[in-house]
Amino acid sequence: MVTCHPVPCIFCSRLADGNIVAENGLAVAFEDAFPLNPGHCLVVPRRDEPDFLALAPEEQAAVWALVEQVRRYIDAGWRPRRPPTLSSRSV
Ligand SMILES: [Zn+2]
Repeated sequence: MVTCHPVPCIFCSRLADGNIVAENGLAVAFEDAFPLNPGHCLVVPRRDEPDFLALAPEEQAAVWALVEQVRRYIDAGWRPRRPPTLSSRSV
């Protein structure tokens, strides 16, 4: 369940539609309604808070915990090309 104001915001309305990509107790991931790229997903806290830094540490951790699951979801469905990145070994 997602908490929201008396008039649901766009994220809470979107979550009520279902089609969840990944979730845990404090956060949820779903595909963007207007994707910039195939598989574009949003990860949001279950509590309606627009400022990520205003979330409790455990809520921030819950959001980050879903990022890897979303990456696997995108990799499995779309196999996106990624630009080369620096690793700690190449610096
Ligand atoms: Zn909301």
